[in-house]
Amino acid sequence: MRIIVCVKAVPSTTEVKMDPVTNTIVRDGAQSVVNPFDSTALELALRIKDEREALGDDVRVTVLSMGIPDTERLLRDCIARGADDGLLLSDRAFAGADTLATSYALSCGIRHLGRPDVVICGKMAVDGDTAQIGPEIAGVLDVPCIADVRELLACDGNCLRVRRGTDAGIELVEAPLPAVITVAKDAAQLRMPAICGVRASLAAPVEVLDVAGVGADPARCGLAGSPTQVVRSFVPERSSGGAWLEGSPAQQAEQLVELVEGMGL
Ligand code: FAD
Repeated sequence: MRIIVCVKAVPSTTEVKMDPVTNTIVRDGAQSVVNPFDSTALELALRIKDEREALGDDVRVTVLSMGIPDTERLLRDCIARGADDGLLLSDRAFAGADTLATSYALSCGIRHLGRPDVVICGKMAVDGDTAQIGPEIAGVLDVPCIADVRELLACDGNCLRVRRGTDAGIELVEAPLPAVITVAKDAAQLRMPAICGVRASLAAPVEVLDVAGVGADPARCGLAGSPTQVVRSFVPERSSGGAWLEGSPAQQAEQLVELVEGMGL
């Protein structure tokens, strides 16, 4: 069984620097960590691995990322915790990708690794926050996608059974493999690395590929391949104070209209 976990490097602080020209996050690596949702994704992959290997199956867990070269450090940390190997897509041509270009590049990485049984993504990345990549990868691979998994109940060689969150509550869902799932942060707690895991991670294979190496079309990668761009990202100024509306509901509504009209929106 081949399980691929998509792992994104995200800024470790909320104070992120934005490139004033491309309006993308300056990913200088020094402060990056694994997106917290992806740590949960890795733990669920490792639990499937533990269970299937106890039944005699051969399971390989690969961590896949598109990011700057420093991201290799984070992939090796995932290997220290139990992943088998990693693939890093790193090339300036990938920079500034929107989710369409990102999911295309990651899908090329998944095809390079060979058809997976399960792809596990975090529900969302804490910086871009779109929650689009998992479903988009499923669309490119033309496989089922179950989003917002809260609990993994079972995964054998043919199907997986989960509990997932919806606006109406918790749903029990089963999907045939291969499939993509995206996981909620509190679905599991990532295990600590063992000493032997840390040692093994230093020599473990982490392939680093550029656009050509992964067989991607440069016109569909990075800023060039992004039909949408972030025009501006900013921390909204917090206006102090506020207006307290008095009187009957009708009077308050009148005051509200005046206030909003006065804003010149
Ligand atoms: P999400 O879809 O939230 O991530 C879900 C999961 O996908 C992650 O948990 C992880 O498992 C996987 N994943 C995501 N990125 C990677 C990666 N690089 N490597 C490996 N796995 C990955 N782009 C848009 O198209 N539309 C927008 O509206 C948009 N708004 C943005 C707003 C801000 C403030 C910022 C900083 C970026 C925004 N972007 C947007 C760019 C977006 O961050 C990138 O497209 C990014 O590569 C993926 O989107 P995401 O972070 O929202 O991922």
